[in-house]
Amino acid sequence: MLRQVLLSASRSTKVKNLVETAPVTSALVRRFVAGDHAFDAVRATEHLAAQGLYATVDHLGEDTLDPAHAEAACVACLMLLSRLRDAGLARNAEVSVKLSALGGALPGGAALALRHARNICAAAEKAGTTVTLDMEDHTTTDATLETLRALRADYPWVGAVLQASLRRTEADCRDLAGEGSRVRLCKGAYRAPGFAAFTTRADVDLSYVRCLKILMAGAGYPMVATHDPRLVELAGMLAARNRRAPGSYEYQMLYGVRPAEQARLAARGERVRIYVPYGDQWYGYLVRRLAERPANLAFFLRSVAGR
Ligand code: FAD
Repeated sequence: MLRQVLLSASRSTKVKNLVETAPVTSALVRRFVAGDHAFDAVRATEHLAAQGLYATVDHLGEDTLDPAHAEAACVACLMLLSRLRDAGLARNAEVSVKLSALGGALPGGAALALRHARNICAAAEKAGTTVTLDMEDHTTTDATLETLRALRADYPWVGAVLQASLRRTEADCRDLAGEGSRVRLCKGAYRAPGFAAFTTRADVDLSYVRCLKILMAGAGYPMVATHDPRLVELAGMLAARNRRAPGSYEYQMLYGVRPAEQARLAARGERVRIYVPYGDQWYGYLVRRLAERPANLAFFLRSVAGR
């Protein structure tokens, strides 16, 4: 119930204005967001690299309704890629991209988002790294996978995210389990109606297990994005069962979430990639993180109340 309320709030302009103007804790934002600027993201990536961790960097922003903002989001990504390359971090860090930040949510915006995404992929290839398309709410899944197909014709290394919470995802995993395919499997952070999504945590978890089995048995590169200890353990078992060596799959976690577990997996020789968001458009991202864990919300409310 609380989760549903928070996920609605993540899309509410009124709540957004309230939270952004409240004496809201910068400590909470800092826990989940690397900073406002590209150099903050580069610094966080350097710090992770020193611990043997990889990064996927996200310039925060979503649901853009102005073509000029979409253009600016694309430019920010290009600048980020050149800074990562200049810092010698392109082997450690790729970028994550939300198509709605690139104009995908505008009327007829799919073509605009694809054009921007192509430019980002070209720059990533030049820098020697990759791009993963984030997955947003369930109404955008078809368009995102369509864009993925178009991009992969020229850039076969482009990855995408699939959400175990959606009923369709098992079939999508089968479609995308082939050679060269990079799939980040997550539970899903958006609200969706019952006809499209599983409605209980247990059903989402079971769906994750079925999807993970498909990806691990396939010929692609599974990216296991979860902090759930049971699923992390299962991924290791499935990797062993499918004779996958570390480096033929990877674990992914969010910046600021379970850092000790991130370090433990890396020390065991696993490849672990951290999703590093940066920028001042942190509201939607932060509220989704609060929705995932009531303890984060309590921390947030205490700091808003100034305690
Ligand atoms: P949960 O059952 O939510 O959590 C398991 C345990 O992990 C919790 O008990 C807690 O100990 C810890 N934990 C989880 N979340 C938090 C938190 N916020 N703060 C503190 N502890 C926490 N979702 C999308 O819909 N689209 C995407 O493109 C997308 N990309 C992602 C990329 C990465 C690298 C990761 C890790 C997640 C991404 N997500 C995305 C979010 C994902 O869908 C989940 O909402 C999120 O990962 C929480 O689910 P969980 O698997 O960790 O399991």
